[in-house]
Amino acid sequence: MTNPTDRVLSRAERQAMPVALDVAVEIAKHNGVCIRPVVLRRLDTHTGTTEDVNVPCGATMEAKCPPCAKRNRYLRMAQCREGWHLEAEPSITPDEPNEEQRWLVEFRADTQAQRDAAEQAGDDTTDLDAVLAGLDEEINAAGMRGNLLGRTAAKRNRSTRRRQDAPDLPKRVRQNTTLGRTFTGSDGATYRPSLFVTLTLPSYGKVRAGQGVPVDPDTYDYPRAARDALHFSKLVDRFVQNLRRVAGYDVQYFSSVEPQKRLAPHLHMAVRGTMPRAEIKAIAAATYHQVWWPSVDEVRFEGEHLPVWTERPEHAEPYPDGQDGDYLDPATGELLPTWREALDRLDADEDAEPLHVVRFGPQVDVQGVLSGTPDADQCIRYLSKYLTKSLGDTLDADNPAQRAHTARMTEALRYEPCSPACPNWLRYGVQPKNAKADMAPGRCRGKAHKPEHLGYAGRRVLVSRKWSNKTLSEHKRDRRTWVMEALGLADEVPDPHRYVWKPVPAGDDNIPSLALRLLRMVAERQRWRATLLALEARATGQDLSAVREAA
Ligand SMILES: [Zn+2]
Ligand SMILES: [Zn+2]
Repeated sequence: MTNPTDRVLSRAERQAMPVALDVAVEIAKHNGVCIRPVVLRRLDTHTGTTEDVNVPCGATMEAKCPPCAKRNRYLRMAQCREGWHLEAEPSITPDEPNEEQRWLVEFRADTQAQRDAAEQAGDDTTDLDAVLAGLDEEINAAGMRGNLLGRTAAKRNRSTRRRQDAPDLPKRVRQNTTLGRTFTGSDGATYRPSLFVTLTLPSYGKVRAGQGVPVDPDTYDYPRAARDALHFSKLVDRFVQNLRRVAGYDVQYFSSVEPQKRLAPHLHMAVRGTMPRAEIKAIAAATYHQVWWPSVDEVRFEGEHLPVWTERPEHAEPYPDGQDGDYLDPATGELLPTWREALDRLDADEDAEPLHVVRFGPQVDVQGVLSGTPDADQCIRYLSKYLTKSLGDTLDADNPAQRAHTARMTEALRYEPCSPACPNWLRYGVQPKNAKADMAPGRCRGKAHKPEHLGYAGRRVLVSRKWSNKTLSEHKRDRRTWVMEALGLADEVPDPHRYVWKPVPAGDDNIPSLALRLLRMVAERQRWRATLLALEARATGQDLSAVREAA
């Protein structure tokens, strides 16, 4: 069968004519090829040769292009399916850092060096910062916990009065298992029921059905909606803790955070094992998270009246809080409390209230699901439905009411502190954690403030450690191994020390245009696909649907 894109491609390559980038992008998308590949220079330490390699953006960046996002979605679906109705206890052993982790860590180090050099040279570091943030996320996803900066904040000892008290829920003795109960039906068959749970945030005001826009924007509680979105991931953590306490076993889950039309995040969760519906509802109702941050009730600095940075004297040792300066009140010269001092004051204040308390709304949906049923497949598709979109992407951009709703939500987030390090703390008279020069309220670069994230800056997929017995990169490798076996090729584990990867300096003349790079990647993909299809044609009675999917 002739693919119309083949002709365009071969002609373009043969004549080496400049191809319009938008045409190349369309061809790449049509072929499921990454449209924002990152060029990395790979030194082969065995042969001493270097080669520039196009790495799909999905492998390094957090914001994935549409083809990478789609591939990622299939991978997540496989991961979700594999763990949900597991029949045997997963064996979890702490892994040696694998090849991918090592590669990511080295690549991160190189990127950090590049970023620091750019900063020294006075260049814009926004893009490199985004790559670094994406890499941190990938490294965590690859199975390493914590991040490379070793930020392990000492836990604060809150007074007993303020401790996050256990909700008033039954507590069962914890069995040492991650598997749910099974039931034997009247036909003697074994059933392994699990749960599909949907949790939603409370109402902030009436919204129009189907559109999600407030009926009355003036009374819609945007500040609350903003804070709930900012702290949603903590609420989810609390829910899981409570779930495990009540269930009496080591409950495992695969969940995704998705946007609702009204722009609030909500959570779909596949839970392994089953519990009474009423119990799940009781747990959701009793779950809350208190945000013990300094108060933001009083705006102390705004407009031209902003805190001023002053350097600390030279010091032999680095300052314990990592700051080499402080912000002070421009009128009085008084130093603003550092983040640590502000928290100490909060601890000492018997009457202090949390800045915010976040809870779920009354809408809790619990569905029982049996393994291998169409229902289970439906839920898995549902869980990954929005993975290719950001929170703010779900709106119809042509609808003025929805655009206005997004704008008001973004405005509500503008001065809301998104983290201890958020420059917005200056507005309320507190120095952000690890404060440095040139911070200004309203100019935080944190993901949470951006219209595409709308307050929720956390991971979109949350998977418990003993879900499927594998990390995402192991799932990736599974697919590859499967295809290689089907092709009758050996899938050797490469020597992890063979290659050294480096980012290619910006403006390197040896890099072909993006259009040309995309077409080359398409050509590679088509060769690969042709091989797979030929193989499929030869195979009889063998299920090669996974091969087709991989192609
Ligand atoms: Zn991509
Ligand atoms: Zn911020």
